[in-house]
Amino acid sequence: MYKSTRPTILSALRMVTRLFGRRLDTPITAAERLIKGALFDCQMCGNCVLSKTGMTCPMNCPKSIRNGPCGGVRSNGMCEVKPNMRCVWVDAWHGAANMQDGETIKDIEFAVDHNRVGQSSWLRLARDE
Ligand code: SF4
Repeated sequence: MYKSTRPTILSALRMVTRLFGRRLDTPITAAERLIKGALFDCQMCGNCVLSKTGMTCPMNCPKSIRNGPCGGVRSNGMCEVKPNMRCVWVDAWHGAANMQDGETIKDIEFAVDHNRVGQSSWLRLARDE
């Protein structure tokens, strides 16, 4: 689903940003926050890697690990820090196994650039930034 909808969403965003410049950045960012928040519990890190992490937002990991899991995952798949929460990275690896290009979860990611927190990843992609 991700692979089939991505080109359409990107084309639409490219057209909108070409037509309106940065005038619609605020509502587009708000829409991204709303949609991805509802679907993926997105934390708007501004460095979206959902497509590489089985559509699981790694920013929900209490250690904010971008290349997980950490060494503390419990044997029942629950989080070391929050025992009542499933390890984000266990879910990420399961999700990635169900996706085309799921192997991209093995790509090494940089730590989050905190200057981008709250910014739209969609707009950055649309502008090839
Ligand atoms: S167990 Fe998983 S969710 Fe918990 S801190 Fe480690 S990597 Fe993050």
